[in-house]
Amino acid sequence: MNKKIIIGNWKMNPNSVLEAEKLFKSIKKLTVKGVDAVICAPSPFLSNLKKIGVTTNLALGAQNVHFEKEGAYTGEVSATMLNSFKINYSIVGHSERRAMGESNDDIAKKVLALTKNKIIPIICIGEKDRDHSGFYLHTIKAQIVSALSLIPKTIFKSVIIAYEPVWAIGANAERPATPAECHEMVIFIRKCISDISNTQTAHAVRVIYGGSANVEDAGLFLNDGMADGFLLGRASLNAKSFGEIIKIASINISK
Ligand code: PEP
Repeated sequence: MNKKIIIGNWKMNPNSVLEAEKLFKSIKKLTVKGVDAVICAPSPFLSNLKKIGVTTNLALGAQNVHFEKEGAYTGEVSATMLNSFKINYSIVGHSERRAMGESNDDIAKKVLALTKNKIIPIICIGEKDRDHSGFYLHTIKAQIVSALSLIPKTIFKSVIIAYEPVWAIGANAERPATPAECHEMVIFIRKCISDISNTQTAHAVRVIYGGSANVEDAGLFLNDGMADGFLLGRASLNAKSFGEIIKIASINISK
């Protein structure tokens, strides 16, 4: 069984560094041994949060990265910069960034830049909608194969794949996925990874779920959905909910 990981994507929240520090401190108190927790905060807050202190149970992540090392890329942050203040994770290919034009090729280059800088990529994949002919499975496969195309197979096991069906994300979501749908996709994602590496690697990769997950359904996604954890949007902005989901994951590991 893979170690569970609960990742918070704060997106463009909260409004001030003071609020960010307060939220991070409250979350820090609720982390537990045996479950990895990661907060992906807005870049301007990372330095202050780093000073509050990361632990073996709580790490910091970025929400995006540029694939180039340096240069004329106004507003962008490089993997080298993140590495220079020891940020351990970064989200790549979030559907909100794909909607702004990020392509599968960009994501592959970002994954490469991150791994070269010893930063763990949290690779978001997910279909916009589902069709009866199952074409969405081709979308998922293409996203996985492309995202992993530039890195050596020997490091596949260190990446995290976040299955985030776009229709299940955010306040305007159609509905959350069901644990059964999540289970199906976890199996499919591992099969895609296995086809380009091997079964052992495919099982070592942490595959997590994201899309309106909350305290009420977290246990079901971990048990029946076979998710190795979560990428949480709204639930990560509330320390109590985030802490509760960490606790659920810790109970789940002792089963
Ligand atoms: C997300 O945007 O990655 C996400 C999972 O958001 P939410 O949990 O709010 O649906």
